[in-house]
Amino acid sequence: MNGKLFMKKIKKLLFYYNSLSILKKFLLAPIFGLLLVIPFYFFIFFIMLEMKQSVNIANSALIPLNEASQNNILLLEKITNDINSAVSAKEIEWISASDKNADKIRENLNKYINSNYKKEITQSITAFENYYKRAKDVSIKIIQNSYHYQNIENDTKILVQNYNKVDKLFNDLKFLTKENIEKNINSLYNEANIILLYGSFIFFIWFFISSIIIFLVYKDLKYKIQRIIDDSNEIAYGDVNFEKRLKIVSYDELGQIVRSINIFINKLHKSHEKLTKAKEKLDKLYIIDRLTNVYNRVKIDEIIEIELKRKRRYDHTFSVILIDIDYFKLVNDTHGHLIGDLILKEFSQILKDNIRDTDFLGRWGGEEFIIICTQTDQKGTFALAENLRREIEKFDFTTVGKITASFGIYECRDEDNENSVIENADKALYQAKRDGRNKVVCYNQ
Ligand code: GH3
Ligand code: MG
Ligand code: MG
Repeated sequence: MNGKLFMKKIKKLLFYYNSLSILKKFLLAPIFGLLLVIPFYFFIFFIMLEMKQSVNIANSALIPLNEASQNNILLLEKITNDINSAVSAKEIEWISASDKNADKIRENLNKYINSNYKKEITQSITAFENYYKRAKDVSIKIIQNSYHYQNIENDTKILVQNYNKVDKLFNDLKFLTKENIEKNINSLYNEANIILLYGSFIFFIWFFISSIIIFLVYKDLKYKIQRIIDDSNEIAYGDVNFEKRLKIVSYDELGQIVRSINIFINKLHKSHEKLTKAKEKLDKLYIIDRLTNVYNRVKIDEIIEIELKRKRRYDHTFSVILIDIDYFKLVNDTHGHLIGDLILKEFSQILKDNIRDTDFLGRWGGEEFIIICTQTDQKGTFALAENLRREIEKFDFTTVGKITASFGIYECRDEDNENSVIENADKALYQAKRDGRNKVVCYNQ
């Protein structure tokens, strides 16, 4: 697997993890435990099967065969004694008394002929039959006195050898089965030990890894919750910023909370935008004259106030021009109010077109306008007013044709206030009217 594919797999796993609900995240630990325990259970199951087999073998063959071998040793002794007694008493009939015991031995051995000890049992049977047959023959011959001395010695010797062989085989079988019973018990003990050892090992691994999983899940959740707290604190207590959203840290319950909060912020953002636009509109309505679309008195008052402050603080000079249309009543009387309104619009447009961007134009009253010329002294203002006067004079107004206007100029001083500024400009305007109108007059103390 190359690195890129590996990273992709890890990302996919992380995504699955993040999609799990919090409860399921914590359930990862027991699920992991189950994954460990299930194979372990099968492992125990097979070991138990093996143990059961050992016990079965012990119960069905080893223990009874061991008992039978023990029994056979005793029976063999008994047969030998019986035959000896028969020989001593010289009673041939007594010899067949041991047939019963011989049958018992045969039965004891044949019962287990199909067990794992077939070879040993077959050997034992052959050796026993061999011995028993010879023992009977020899004893009968001795009782009947039909032996030569040398033959007796020889046959008895062989008989003793045969007896020892049978006895040894019976004892071997007894010890072999005993040994195997012990082996079985030992292996059972070892297997029980293995189960205990593996069980403890699995338990500790499960405990260790589960603790790690729970700890990591806890840390992860704590980090995500802290992140949500930090983000939301920033939104709550920081500068108002509707562009900010909570970061989606996961797709569990925390993710759902974050998404809901983000949707709420979205809604807030939209309604804030709407409100801002409405406010802008209202602000505009509040400071703009609706007929001529220039500032109204409210805004002009504010501008004069600000400019007076700037003048005092930075010694910036500024001047105002108060403009009144000449004989405007006549325009209304002759052409009606609607034409009068139209003239007011055309008139304000001429003013707008001929002032600087840094100047402020406003409608002061009915057909009176005002211009605030920032950073301009009386001389400069006069030149501007004179230019405006000429522009108006030469303009051909709709229906009405030629009209003129009078201009009063005042350069503001430190000791002025909003009222004195207008008053002094008005005085100059009054003078212009008195001088015959269509004039520009500067305020003169
Ligand atoms: P003067 O040369 O002395 O200024 O003469 P005038 O006729 O212009 O006199 P005055 O300034 O006193 O008259 C102002 C007139 O302007 C009164 C009113 O009929 C008219 N007027 C004021 N506001 C409006 C307006 O919004 N629309 C129209 N059509 N006329 C207005
Ligand atoms: Mg007037
Ligand atoms: Mg007038």
